[in-house]
Amino acid sequence: MPGIVVVGSIHTDLVITTERLPTPGETRIGGEFHTFPGGKGANQAVAAARLGGEVWMVGRVGADLYGRFQRESLGAAGVHTDFVTTDADAASGVALIMVERGGNNTIVVAPGASGRCAPEDVDRAAAVIAGADALLLQLEIPLETVEYAARLAAQHGVRVILDPAPAQPLPPALLEMVHLVTPNETEAALLCGFDPGERHEPAELAARIQQRVRGPVLITLGAQGVLAMVDGQTLQVPAVPVEAVDATAAGDTFSGALAVALTEGRNLADAIRWANHAAALAVTRLGAQSAVPTRREVDDFAGSSC
Ligand code: ADP
Repeated sequence: MPGIVVVGSIHTDLVITTERLPTPGETRIGGEFHTFPGGKGANQAVAAARLGGEVWMVGRVGADLYGRFQRESLGAAGVHTDFVTTDADAASGVALIMVERGGNNTIVVAPGASGRCAPEDVDRAAAVIAGADALLLQLEIPLETVEYAARLAAQHGVRVILDPAPAQPLPPALLEMVHLVTPNETEAALLCGFDPGERHEPAELAARIQQRVRGPVLITLGAQGVLAMVDGQTLQVPAVPVEAVDATAAGDTFSGALAVALTEGRNLADAIRWANHAAALAVTRLGAQSAVPTRREVDDFAGSSC
């Protein structure tokens, strides 16, 4: 079983549906309220575990209801939580999400304990990181901690997979330690120093980013699938057509699945195809971790095409 460590955010998504989003100062009576375990780090950990990895989560929660809820959700998916620290001085991270009919949303994240995830947390997990097959990173915890974890993994020859989300420019030193990077189009544009509104061809973005990372660049294109660039060659892998219900955690499921597939020894094209099937299934379901499919579901869905 491939050993995968995820260092990242652990949040709870508090979601209200509403006919339309309120304007500033307006109070509206909404529809249903849902509490979903989320956070990019925890989502990737759950995805990798449910899809066949042995997974350790490194992060922080607060000493509160949501912290306990998160631990339970990670544990139920089989993720090891020994390196999830309970921070007595911060609330657990939450995302307040409003979704209007048609799918537009507004999201405010209060990172709380996730915002205090520190190099010491990574140090506590140093032995499992050093012995892992892959380290998964995203950008919802302090950048200093992300860089610290990447450096530790790189020193031990552990494959580092970075999902550079939420979008932000990154220091060259971090990218140089990364073996594979999986931005969406907005994140790719920002990594290139472009204005997120500017339109650039994914292949151009990938070519620019490839000059800054060690290995492949995979630009995820939502319903269009993935454009990968490896050693200057592009590879387009289409998405799997599905009836989309909620794209939350599509990218996180993709990253978790990709890590499992690569550490099991699949080649990059096969790994992307398999991860596209996993992400497509996640898109057909509501929520973040609750939307992640199991190994059997993905294998059945992918069938002989992988
Ligand atoms: P993010 O969620 O990080 O913005 P994307 O929207 O690019 O990332 O989605 C990540 C992956 O999820 C895609 O590469 C694709 O495999 C899958 N995916 C996303 N949206 C759809 C969709 N509507 N239909 C099928 N697959 C999808």
